[in-house]
Amino acid sequence: MTTLNSDVLRTWDELPRQAEILIVGGGLAGLELAKHLDLAGADGVLVLEAGAGHDLQHVYTVNDPVVADRLWTDERSDPYFVRSWESSAEPHFSVGSGIRQRLGGRSLYWHGVLLPIEEFALSDPAWPISVVRDLTHSWRDGPSLYARVQADLAAWGRATPSTANNEICVGRFRFIDPPRSIRRPAVESKHWEAYSPLSHWIERSAGSNVCMVPDVKVIGVLTTDGRADGVVVRNRLTGEEKHVTASKTVLAAATVENTRLAIQTLHASEEPDSASLSGLFDHIVQGFNATVAAADLPPWLVSRARDGAFLYMNGASASRSNLFIQLETAESGDIEMEAWVTAEQERSTAGVVTCTPDGDWPWHVAISTGLSPEDTRTVAAQRRVLAEFWSAWCTQFDLPSNPLDFDFDFISPKRTLRSMHEDMRDHDRAVHHCRPTTWASPLGTEEHEGGTLAFGHVIDENHEFKKVRDLFAIGVSIFPRQGAANPSLTTLALARRLAAILTA
Ligand SMILES: Cc1cc2nc3c(=O)[nH]c(=O)nc-3n(C[C@H](O)[C@H](O)[C@H](O)COP(=O)(O)OP(=O)(O)OC[C@H]3O[C@@H](n4cnc5c(N)ncnc54)[C@H](O)[C@@H]3O)c2cc1C
Repeated sequence: MTTLNSDVLRTWDELPRQAEILIVGGGLAGLELAKHLDLAGADGVLVLEAGAGHDLQHVYTVNDPVVADRLWTDERSDPYFVRSWESSAEPHFSVGSGIRQRLGGRSLYWHGVLLPIEEFALSDPAWPISVVRDLTHSWRDGPSLYARVQADLAAWGRATPSTANNEICVGRFRFIDPPRSIRRPAVESKHWEAYSPLSHWIERSAGSNVCMVPDVKVIGVLTTDGRADGVVVRNRLTGEEKHVTASKTVLAAATVENTRLAIQTLHASEEPDSASLSGLFDHIVQGFNATVAAADLPPWLVSRARDGAFLYMNGASASRSNLFIQLETAESGDIEMEAWVTAEQERSTAGVVTCTPDGDWPWHVAISTGLSPEDTRTVAAQRRVLAEFWSAWCTQFDLPSNPLDFDFDFISPKRTLRSMHEDMRDHDRAVHHCRPTTWASPLGTEEHEGGTLAFGHVIDENHEFKKVRDLFAIGVSIFPRQGAANPSLTTLALARRLAAILTA
């Protein structure tokens, strides 16, 4: 069983009552920050994690791929799934939207796709110039943060540059392997894992200055004279509460929890009238699935599907989308194609996190969301891209071109990716070859939620709250725009940046 050394992993009874740097949340962002603080020799680093700390392996390492898929497509199957808010905009930020409350967080589920935020989004003045320079150009007189994270994660994955030409061209669509940070125990293995910063402690024999305490939920941040000086914590198992003081506190509890903690803190100090923060976004994702008889496709493509092809194409800035395809072989021998576009949702006043200030922490959280006029144009542009791709696919492989029909409004989708997967698991379902079935992912289910504590709005370019000193934030909540790219390369890069700021 994979565990952490008892010097690192402590119990509630051993909870330090004082820390130099206290990190709220032991997921991808919080642990990456802790790792870089450790590498920099920082003392007194304490990670408080609301979930359990005994199960530290990636879901695709320990489960059959079908079971692992279900853990994230069907929230009922995952004992760590938690949604700590109520949605006022169902189906958005509702079923399928939540966090995985466990040490490691969603770093134990993610698929390792590592894409930089595109220039069209980073060139927006909403991103501070210093942050963009560090991410893309040069950081601390050396390579950029993006280049450093990509190099380190390639080394972690023991990646050797692929010489194989894996691209698939369909008309004007040219798909390539997306850069990913994953590794397998053996080349042919069906098991794999994506990078988790937990590996820093699991694979390390040297000691560590970092201390982690699981089953400890931070319910509020304490402030004195506009400065954060500690937190109130609750034992998840017994309900007991304690205070922990800290010189610096970093919110790394994923977007919605970060926002709740921020609202409570701002309300107590600077802004007693406001109990909400806006700017909440997720990616806008729509797609379709189609089943094609293997005999109707060229053998090289059938063979790629047998290996489980997963490819992407960087989209044009006009649709602010990336296009992905996944090809698999069904038990029947048919080829299943899933194609989807991931697009930037505008950071707007449509997405709001609101708390009910009823005295006791944690405050109740409600989420409302919707599409801005710009988002509505994005939805239409995505549908055109998908229809064009489907038509090109049918032409290229000489298949009947049944129309790609989006028979629903994005805001009230008839079918979601999750319901689609549910249907596909039904062995008795009727299969209509070459008839595409469209779906849309409700906002909040893409796991890329962010925007509420954005640079410039809530935090300054050093990640510190503008209105509460010694309080910092990390994760997708601090992105002022996220482009079409999956966010974790940027999350990891900014965690490293914050570690350097905190130890300067
Ligand atoms: C199936 C899946 C596939 C994905 N694939 C990709 C991909 O390929 N590429 C990509 O870029 N992104 C991907 N993501 C998204 C990525 O995993 C997340 O964006 C990322 O993990 C967010 O990091 P985080 O640390 O902010 O949040 P999390 O990883 O969710 O960690 C937050 C942690 O904080 C803890 N916490 C919450 N509240 C409290 C509290 N009050 N006190 C103490 N602890 C608390 C939680 O329990 C959790 O452990 C994927 C996600 C999923 C689920």
